[in-house]
Amino acid sequence: MPDELNFLPSLTGSFAKPAAENPTVEMVEAAYRHHGLHWRYINTEVGPENLGEAVAGARAMNWAGFNCSLPNKVEVIQHIDGLGESASVIGAVNCVVRRGEQLIGENTDGKGFLKSLEEIVDPAGKRIVMFGAGGAARAIGVEVALAGATHITIVNRSEERGQELMALVNDKTPAEAAFEKWDGDHSVTDGVDVVINATSIGLYPDVDARLALNLDSLSADMVVADVIPNPPQTRLIRDAQARGCKVLDGLGMLVNQGITGIEYWTGVTVDGGVMRTRLEELFSV
Ligand code: NDP
Repeated sequence: MPDELNFLPSLTGSFAKPAAENPTVEMVEAAYRHHGLHWRYINTEVGPENLGEAVAGARAMNWAGFNCSLPNKVEVIQHIDGLGESASVIGAVNCVVRRGEQLIGENTDGKGFLKSLEEIVDPAGKRIVMFGAGGAARAIGVEVALAGATHITIVNRSEERGQELMALVNDKTPAEAAFEKWDGDHSVTDGVDVVINATSIGLYPDVDARLALNLDSLSADMVVADVIPNPPQTRLIRDAQARGCKVLDGLGMLVNQGITGIEYWTGVTVDGGVMRTRLEELFSV
């Protein structure tokens, strides 16, 4: 069987830990090896100025698809043929899939988060507080809203981005969203079921950075989730654990977006445990 190639246009800035190996490549290749899949997943750094040519190259070589990261997630849309439902609502693509002659853009970030959240709690009917309004927050906000969350409070430093995400959720999903400007320690109100950090606070090397949150407002019946994959045990996760909350680290999101991408490209549902183990080795968990 001929090898198929997936490529990854840009991983710049996604992972700051100076690991010898690229974590996403290592994670996906571990799954390929485990399942005997004769596929390859390679990392190439492509800036916005060469993105069109890179996508044309992938098309010419019949690649099954590719992931893309900042700064290419929005720009790539003009070079492909269509969008999946949530990518179209989110307005960003992190995973491109060849379907017949077409390259279709999907967004697996939010789907990955949702899958890992659903292992702990079904978001349907739940009230959510989410810190952040960047790319990850947009993907998560849209997916949890489409999965039936009733109310999402978006807490963000920049008012403009926060308002924009609030409007997106209110206009394009059945959920109700509100925006609160992040000014000092935020207190989570009673009745909130899930608290999510979708900012980059806590990402290596700023591992001691503190999320401005009144920890006394957390209660043991809340789920606290963090998108930060490196380190997985963020300060927020440790603080929430100490208060008896159920916690969800950023590795779950990373692994599950990988599973979904591989499923799109190969049709095979791979074992997430193998992928998580490889990431834990890299991040010395
Ligand atoms: P963006 O740059 O699009 O957004 C960053 C967000 O963090 C913004 O809301 C920004 O607020 C906020 N922020 C950053 N620093 C601070 C600070 N000091 N105080 C308050 N708010 C702050 O990044 P992404 O959304 O793409 O990524 C966010 C994180 O998600 C990254 O760390 C990334 O590693 C992680 N991620 C994890 C994935 C996984 O699979 N586990 C997948 C994708 C992303 P403002 O709008 O005010 O600037």
